Amino acid sequence: MNKEEALRKYEEWRKKINAYNAVMNLAYFDKETVAPRDAADKRNEVLNYMSGEIYDIETDPELIKAVECLKNEDLGELLNREIYFVSKSLDDVTKFTKEETMEYQKACLDAWETWYKGKKDNDYSVFAPSLKKLIELQKYRCSKRNPDKKAYDVLLDDFEESMSVDKYEPFFKLIKEEIIPLIKIVNTKRDEVDNSFLHKYYPADIQRKFAKDLLHYLHFEGWGYMGETEHPFTDGIFRDDVRITTRYDEHNIASTIFSIIHETGHAYYEHQIDPKYDGSPVCMYISSGMHESQSRFLENYIGRSKAFWVNLYPVLQSYFHENLGDVSLDDFIRGINASGSSLIRTEADELTYPVHILIRYEIEKGIFDGSISTDNLNVVWNEMYKKYLDIDVPGDDVGILQDVHWSNSSFGYFPTYALGSAIGAQLYKTMCEKMDVNKCLTEGNFMAVEEYLKENVQYDGAMHDYNYILKRATGEEFNPSYYIDYLKNKYKELYNIK
Ligand code: ZN
Repeated sequence: MNKEEALRKYEEWRKKINAYNAVMNLAYFDKETVAPRDAADKRNEVLNYMSGEIYDIETDPELIKAVECLKNEDLGELLNREIYFVSKSLDDVTKFTKEETMEYQKACLDAWETWYKGKKDNDYSVFAPSLKKLIELQKYRCSKRNPDKKAYDVLLDDFEESMSVDKYEPFFKLIKEEIIPLIKIVNTKRDEVDNSFLHKYYPADIQRKFAKDLLHYLHFEGWGYMGETEHPFTDGIFRDDVRITTRYDEHNIASTIFSIIHETGHAYYEHQIDPKYDGSPVCMYISSGMHESQSRFLENYIGRSKAFWVNLYPVLQSYFHENLGDVSLDDFIRGINASGSSLIRTEADELTYPVHILIRYEIEKGIFDGSISTDNLNVVWNEMYKKYLDIDVPGDDVGILQDVHWSNSSFGYFPTYALGSAIGAQLYKTMCEKMDVNKCLTEGNFMAVEEYLKENVQYDGAMHDYNYILKRATGEEFNPSYYIDYLKNKYKELYNIK
C-alpha cells in the first residue's frame, strides 16, 4: 500500500468509526437517562452486537496495513499525532479476539444491571459476583496488553498517560499526612459553620427553574443539553452537542448546584476544542485528570467563591425566599464551603473529597496486587471509611455501591479525580497571577474564565500530552503543593484553626 492509498483508507475509516461512535454515545446517553428499565435485556443485546461490529471496524485489516505504512511517514504534526493514537489503540484492540471483546463488553453491561439492582435494594451480594468476574477479566486483559507491567499500572495509564502507582504514591502520601489530620480537627468543629439552610425543603420543580438560570449564566446554551440521572455525568457527542445530567435532591440544594457547575466544566472541555480538529482523534480531551481539573476548577475554585455568587445569589434567593431570605451572602458562602466527614463522594466537600479517592485508590491497588481479597470488599470499604474519615457506613447503597465506575470496569479512573482537583489548584493559582478573577466574576464577566480555560488548556484537545499542557499553562509540571496549601489555608481560616 502506498502513502496516498493509505491516507485514503485512513480517511474513510475515520469517517466510519466516528459515525459508529457517535451513534453508540447517543445510545448510551439514552440508556442512562430515559430508556425504560424493562427493555434492559433487549437493549444490552443490541449494544453488545454493536460492540462486535465496532471491533470489526477497529481491527479492519486494510486499516492495519494503512497505519503500518503511515507510521513511518512524516505527515505533519496533526496527522502524525492521529496515527500515533490509532496505532496505540490498534495495539490494544488486536490483542483480543472478537469473542473475547464481546464477552468483556457483555460482562460490563451485565455488571451495570446487577450494580443498579444491588444499589436500589441495598444489597452488595447482588453485585459481588459480577464485580469479581470483572476484576478477573481485567487482570487477564492487563496481562495480555502489557505482560511486563503491573496490572494496576496498565489501568492507571489508560486514564492518565504515564501515571503509575509509583507516581501517585507521593501525592496520596501528602493527602494522608497533611489533609487527614486537618479533617479530624475540622470534624470536631463542625458546628462552627452553619449550613443547615442548604438542607431545608427545596422543591425539584423550582430547582429546575433556577438550574435554567444557572446554565444561562454559565453560557451552556445552544451547544448543550441537560438531562436528569441519579449519577450526573457528561457525554460529548460532538463539539456542539454536549450532554450533561444532574439530579435534584429536594433536601440538598448545594448538591444540585455544584453538580451542574461541575458537569458544565466538563462540557466546556468538550466544546471549546479548536474546530479545526473536528472529526480527528485529536478532537478530544487529553486525559481524565485534565478533564476533571476543568470540572473541579469551575465547581470549587470558581463556583464556591464569593465573587461567583455576587450576581447569582439574589436570583437563587428570589426562587427560595423562605429558605434563604434571611441568609446573608457571606453566610451562604461559608455554608457552601462547610466541611465534615460524609458518606457520599460526589457530595463531599473539598477538604474530605481527596480522602474518598484515597480509599478507592488503596482498594483498587490492593485488588490488583493481590493484597486485598475480592471477597467481602464491602467490609474492606467500611473499615477504610472508619479509619480515614471516622465514619460508620450504615448500608452498602451509601458505601461500596455508591459509584458506577466499577460496574463498567473503570478501575484506575478514581485517582484522576484527586489528580484533577490538584491540577485545578495549580491552574487557579496561575490564573489569579495573570488576571483579576474576582473582579471579572463580580462584574458578571464569566466569559473571561471560559476564555482562560480555552486558551490555556482546552483549545488544542489531545494535540499535546498533559505534562506539556500543564507546563505551558502554569510554567511547571504537576506540583501538588498548591492544592495542599490551598486546602490547608482555606479550611484553617474557615474553622479558625491555628
Ligand atoms: Zn467529573
